[in-house]
Amino acid sequence: MKNVFQLSFLLLGGAFLTLTSCKDDKQTTLPSCDGVHWEYSGEDGPEHWKDLCIDYTECGGAAQSPIDIAGAMDDNSLAAIGEHFVASATHAVNNGHTVQFNCDAGSEITLGGQTYKLLQYHFHTHSEHTVGGVSYPMEVHFVHKNESTGKLAVIGVFFKEGAENNFLKPFIEHLPATKDATFDDANLTFNVSDCLPSNRSYYTYGGSLTTPPCSEIVTWLVMEHPVEASHEQIEAFHDVEHDNARPVQALGSRSLKHASL
Ligand SMILES: [Zn+2]
Repeated sequence: MKNVFQLSFLLLGGAFLTLTSCKDDKQTTLPSCDGVHWEYSGEDGPEHWKDLCIDYTECGGAAQSPIDIAGAMDDNSLAAIGEHFVASATHAVNNGHTVQFNCDAGSEITLGGQTYKLLQYHFHTHSEHTVGGVSYPMEVHFVHKNESTGKLAVIGVFFKEGAENNFLKPFIEHLPATKDATFDDANLTFNVSDCLPSNRSYYTYGGSLTTPPCSEIVTWLVMEHPVEASHEQIEAFHDVEHDNARPVQALGSRSLKHASL
């Protein structure tokens, strides 16, 4: 019996030491994220984001985005997204990962009694969310923020190849092609409602930013119905952004709901 107790003690002690050293390793080896570079492939690619620096560890979390949309549960209690969209001038910037359009103040959505202000929208080629394992050639993310809680609500819209898209048309020739390049035009105004599908049925789940630091603060609202853009329009984005889609993440214990409107 004595040997068994001794062995147990050794095993427990060993496990404790292993756990302790792992924790210490993480605290001492991960650098600050200042100036840290991340990419969509290679050594700084998505599978390594969580290990790049101390503030990116959430990229290894259990409530990450994007996801594959499959097995959604219909939820009749889900209401339509409350929309109040006004015109904004065009302020586009290439941030090295995507082309982002910063929006003038005034547009907002309401969701579950909360108000989220529209900050910006940006594009991914191909889509980040997939449907039944299949991606679309492009996805736009309209990022809204709840100013009292700091949480985000992001509307995702898929593009499929088809007719020329009138929302994209005015700025497709002016996409800033290199990092930090901008395109501003006060006379070129748009209303994001013109980029949403006419049927506003959506999928919703709790997830994260799809880029580092991958903060798990996002209510995702992914439109069920895609909109169309021409092959040339989608290629124009891909030529500038290249492949900027994070691979899908496990849904895990989260629920994915469908609002049929
Ligand atoms: Zn995005």
